Amino acid sequence: MDFKFTEEQELIRKNVREFCLKNVEPIAAEIDENSRHPAELFQKLSDGGWMGIPIPQEYGGAGADFLTSIIVVEELSRSCASTGFTISTHAGIVCTMILLFGTEEQKKNYLTPMAEGRHLGAFALTEPGAGTDVMAVTTAAVLDGSDYVINGTKTFTSNGPTAGTYLVFAWTDKSAGRKGMSTFIVPREAPGFRVGEHFKKMGLRSSQTSELIFKDCRVSKNNLLGKEGAGLPMAMAGFDGGRIGIAAQCVGILQAALDESIRYSKERIQFGSPIARNQAIAWMIADMATDLSAARFLAYHAAWLKDQKLPFSKEAAMAKLYASEAAMRHTVKAVQIHGGYGYCKGAKVERLMRDAKITEIYEGTSEAMRMVISGTVLR
Ligand SMILES: Cc1cc2nc3c(=O)[nH]c(=O)nc-3n(C[C@H](O)[C@H](O)[C@H](O)COP(=O)(O)OP(=O)(O)OC[C@H]3O[C@@H](n4cnc5c(N)ncnc54)[C@H](O)[C@@H]3O)c2cc1C
Repeated sequence: MDFKFTEEQELIRKNVREFCLKNVEPIAAEIDENSRHPAELFQKLSDGGWMGIPIPQEYGGAGADFLTSIIVVEELSRSCASTGFTISTHAGIVCTMILLFGTEEQKKNYLTPMAEGRHLGAFALTEPGAGTDVMAVTTAAVLDGSDYVINGTKTFTSNGPTAGTYLVFAWTDKSAGRKGMSTFIVPREAPGFRVGEHFKKMGLRSSQTSELIFKDCRVSKNNLLGKEGAGLPMAMAGFDGGRIGIAAQCVGILQAALDESIRYSKERIQFGSPIARNQAIAWMIADMATDLSAARFLAYHAAWLKDQKLPFSKEAAMAKLYASEAAMRHTVKAVQIHGGYGYCKGAKVERLMRDAKITEIYEGTSEAMRMVISGTVLR
């Protein structure tokens, strides 16, 4: 067993950290306050080669392993959870799914531009009536000559308003049950496609979330990803990797909560001494540091299993479940440590607490994670 990162991984962590201190930290509060997608930041991420971090160089990426891409998501999320999540969805799910299941033509037309950071990708499965219950999806695609015609509405699509390429899940044969859903690559300019309502959110506010509307939307049959009927296992494979990305996002949030709590508790004087001298505060910080370590090891272990091409679904669900609940628990404690100042805008911990909540919900709720884990261990 080797707990050491490679020199390259250490160097990438250091480079991302420096990038974040220079480019992300200074704008993180403002893009949260204004719910703004920072196009200028994504241009810099693209110039730095971070947009296609786990994608091979021949397709425009950086050719890093998955664990390295997790380190990047963690460090970005330490400064801005929205930015870490946007990269995680774009590179860790959308680009990775086209890499795994796409034809050479699809990789050339869609993967390379995304990996080079020319535009973002989005993953569209959830619908107004289909959240945890993915079988309740109603969007359908019918073959008409050399095109598929897609009808339906997707909701809560991250990067929905900003993406250039969408992975869309639709029934091609509902009667076939779990073997009846297919995945389509839909370019933003596809006729019959438009972005619907934009959602205003409690946290993760600079990540853009919207409805997507498909009304007789036409895409070439060459835009079918993989085989007809393979959509559901593909979505689950996308989620497995994505859940490790969410765990890494939580590790970044937890690290930031710990950093802020240590700094503030040493600076804040009450009753003539720093509040960190009180055991009540010191123990909150001890628990935070311990859960951070546990979450980090679960996330890295799941990423390592993925890189070794070993089964990792259960471990990804465990990492996401543990890290997201720890992030929520300890960001609340971090606000407590900051007292009234932590409750006000301007305190980073206030944003961290709002950003943490969504990690218990998207890419499978905590209840869904417990279903995945118990389904495996009770088998
Ligand atoms: C900010 C944001 C970004 C998102 N990004 C994307 C995206 O990019 N792409 C995408 O496809 N989706 C996305 N989603 C959707 C997200 O994945 C869903 O919100 C999530 O899967 C839960 O679905 P739901 O909201 O419909 O809740 P529901 O499924 O209605 O669940 C409501 C509650 O009931 C519980 N519950 C449901 N069924 C069971 C059960 N059988 N047993 C026990 N408890 C149960 C849930 O755990 C939850 O607590 C996003 C959502 C948000 C808010």
